[in-house]
Parts: sequence; C-alpha cells; structure tokens
Amino acid sequence: MSDVNKSRRVFLRTAALGVAAVPLARFATHSPAARAEMPKAEDGHALDYVNDATTSDHSKYQEGQKCEGCAFWAGEESDGWGKCRHPEFSDVLVNANGWCNTWVPGG
Ligand code: SF4
Repeated sequence: MSDVNKSRRVFLRTAALGVAAVPLARFATHSPAARAEMPKAEDGHALDYVNDATTSDHSKYQEGQKCEGCAFWAGEESDGWGKCRHPEFSDVLVNANGWCNTWVPGG
C-alpha cells in the first residue's frame, strides 16, 4: 500500500469517528449530571408556571395536577427536579410538584 493510500485511509477513518462522535457529544451534554446543573425554573418562568401547583390560582388548574403527572414530564433528575419536554422549559428544570397552563395528563 502506498503512503498516500495509507494516509487517506487514516484520514477517512478519523473523519468517520469524528462524525460518529457528534451525536454522542450532544448526548453527553444532556447527561443527568449536566441536567442537574441546569437552573431551576422560578415561578412565572413561562405559561403561568409555579413550583408548587397548589399555589396556582389559574382558572385551568385542577387539584392533583402537577408536573410529574404531565405528558411533558421527562422524569426526575434529582431532589424532585426534572426536565420538561415543552420548548418553553428547555433550558430549566421544573419541579415535580410544579404546574403550568399547558399541563396535559400523561406523565
Ligand atoms: Fe410541568 Fe407539564 Fe408545564 Fe412542563 S408542560 S412545566 S411538565 S405542567
């Protein structure tokens, strides 16, 4: 094998590994540890969100509704805080006992 072909093979193999690593790197930034470092939503973050559903005075709120029972709830990360799949909450953690006006059953 010529040196040119050998260099080309090494380059192609390295490039392929780099491409394969991109999705993994993206996944790594969303590891539980990374998510745990995300800021926690504060009351009023968006969509009339509150960290304690029972404090909501919104007309849509019904007793028993809270983030951990919502279809957008992605599961607890730590200490009762977890990720919400709704775009308005993509950069914060929400409280398992929280609520917003987009609550839908399913969690
Ligand atoms: Fe909570 Fe659901 Fe609103 Fe997300 S969409 S903040 S999980 S009630």
